[in-house]
Amino acid sequence: MTVLCVFLGLLVGGLVNQLGSDLPARRSLTPPHCPYCGRVRPWWQWLSLPAHLVGRSGCPSCGAPISLRHPLVEIGLAVAYGYLWIVFEPSVKLAFYLLYSAIFALILITDIERRLILNVVMYPAIVIALIANFVTRELVWWSPPLGGAIGFAFFLGAALVGNALFGSGALGEGDVSLAAFVGIITGFPLVIEALILTIVIGAAASFILLVTGVRGLHDHVPYGPFLVAGAVITLLWGYPIAEWFLYR
Ligand SMILES: [Zn+2]
Repeated sequence: MTVLCVFLGLLVGGLVNQLGSDLPARRSLTPPHCPYCGRVRPWWQWLSLPAHLVGRSGCPSCGAPISLRHPLVEIGLAVAYGYLWIVFEPSVKLAFYLLYSAIFALILITDIERRLILNVVMYPAIVIALIANFVTRELVWWSPPLGGAIGFAFFLGAALVGNALFGSGALGEGDVSLAAFVGIITGFPLVIEALILTIVIGAAASFILLVTGVRGLHDHVPYGPFLVAGAVITLLWGYPIAEWFLYR
């Protein structure tokens, strides 16, 4: 069954790849096609990983390769799906976590490639996250909305201050709605841990990017990946980390 879940992750990865290309271009879902010549890919290239593995990832029409993002997303979601299946076993919670993984992957694609976190992704994600706790009953009923409000307020404040200090665009509307989503799925009080991890990871990653010269002082670094990292770590290991920190 784990193998089936890994395969499901691979398929969802293919779908997320296509949404990551189509949604920022304001298209509805299209069949996978070459971004250079526009030709629809043959069926055996719809998942890029097998095509890459047999060395046939070039477009049959113009020869342009499928970008490396495609197999990376497919592998990433396949590994995530396998891991989540083993850790959470078949449950309603697992179903929501598989869905959140796909949402996070889509956010990473659009934020890293185009500095966009789309409302068309975040609004449905927030509605799903608000409904989720009524189904799973993991947290007391007020915990997810309070967590969402804290994530929203904190990042709205950070965006207002950041834009006043560094000019507009340091943090965007998308970051604020992503922070609300993260707050809803982690809930109160874990949202605090998710926000702290986001800031720590963001600072460490920005420092490394600056020192290695990958980014300059005035370059924009997308903040979505740090929020996603903070959320994932908190959802998987939030309580052990909090215990270690508070009671060691
Ligand atoms: Zn082509």
